[in-house]
Amino acid sequence: MSTTPKGADATFDPTAIGSFVAAVFAAAGSSAEESRIVADHLVEANLQGHDSHGVIRVTKYVDWCKAGQVVANRHAQVVTDSGALLVVDGQFGYGQVIGREAMALAIERARKHGTATLAIRNAGHLGRIGAWAEQLAAAGLASYHLVNTSGFGILVAPHGGSDRRMSANPIAAGVPVAGKPPLILDIATSLVAEGKIQVARNKGETLPPGMILDGKGKPTTQPEVFYASPPGAILPVGAHKGSGLSFFCEVLAGALTGGGSSHPDNPTAKRLVNNMLTLAFDPAAFGSGEGFAADVARLIGWTKASPPIDRGGAVLLPGEIEQRTKAERLRRGIPLDAVTRRQMAATAASAGVPPPPGFAP
Ligand code: NAD
Repeated sequence: MSTTPKGADATFDPTAIGSFVAAVFAAAGSSAEESRIVADHLVEANLQGHDSHGVIRVTKYVDWCKAGQVVANRHAQVVTDSGALLVVDGQFGYGQVIGREAMALAIERARKHGTATLAIRNAGHLGRIGAWAEQLAAAGLASYHLVNTSGFGILVAPHGGSDRRMSANPIAAGVPVAGKPPLILDIATSLVAEGKIQVARNKGETLPPGMILDGKGKPTTQPEVFYASPPGAILPVGAHKGSGLSFFCEVLAGALTGGGSSHPDNPTAKRLVNNMLTLAFDPAAFGSGEGFAADVARLIGWTKASPPIDRGGAVLLPGEIEQRTKAERLRRGIPLDAVTRRQMAATAASAGVPPPPGFAP
């Protein structure tokens, strides 16, 4: 399974990792279907290059499940149904299951009404948010998604502030492209996703300057400092602009969905809860179906034709880098660092699942 020596970064076959991870979730109490859904979501994140939202999460997810913070085998429960508007309660179930079921509802409603507004509250970690835009794009829908965490994930300093007040609050958008993979924007409104700080810490690497503050509000590049007491903070992307987008994730994904905005006094602040507002659009219902596809194709060509600023460079559209990384990782395997593998192996062992040969460093 491993293609490089023990102890170092090693690459692994995605199918084998998926089966191993699914076995760990099954041992932790998830049904076979849920185990597979969660495992596939995490492996897909690794394949697309978002290691921070990949199988590195197994240890935390299992810990949360043991602590009752995420509850196995829960489903999306519709609490408000006004046709094109649905409010879904995730009942603290695995976000990968709740998100998938909720997106299926959004697809059904957007096909019927031309558009759907879907609010999810009280879901477990929804993982890589681009996955939800991909599910809708596969059904021919364009979409926009805003996400917050109720208070457990307070990590980001507001522009002009020096300590953690907001969550990493990702925003995703997607559009199907005729005959090609969809274009998917998938960004945290923090300069770096917290999971990437975790990855840097596991690898013993420093972060690029200008991304995080230490506990005294001073700039630092040391991932360890971020996890010290008092903890550090991540800066918002794009200064006041990202800070403003993040604020409106709190308003629209948090306050509006009923999941609540990031605040230590939020009743769900002690468990990782993701809330999400999804807007789905069926281009055909706008009367611009084929014209929409043609316009998007023209826009793609126009944008990509910009002469690269760097010699040998290229303009990449949202989602293209993930497609490239996925093609490469399907060929070469998923790289996993030794610390992540050690953590995963320990979690698996505590669940009675032996790691595959060559996995534990
Ligand atoms: P990132 O900084 O890698 O940005 C990814 C986006 O930028 C993608 O749309 C990608 O296609 C685009 N992109 C990357 N390089 C590009 C280039 N050279 N040219 C043009 N476009 C380019 O990702 P991130 O902000 O660190 O987020 C990572 C992941 O973390 C995402 O999947 C996000 O959903 C997830 N996340 C989830 C939560 C949660 O609470 N569930 C919170 C924060 C982040």
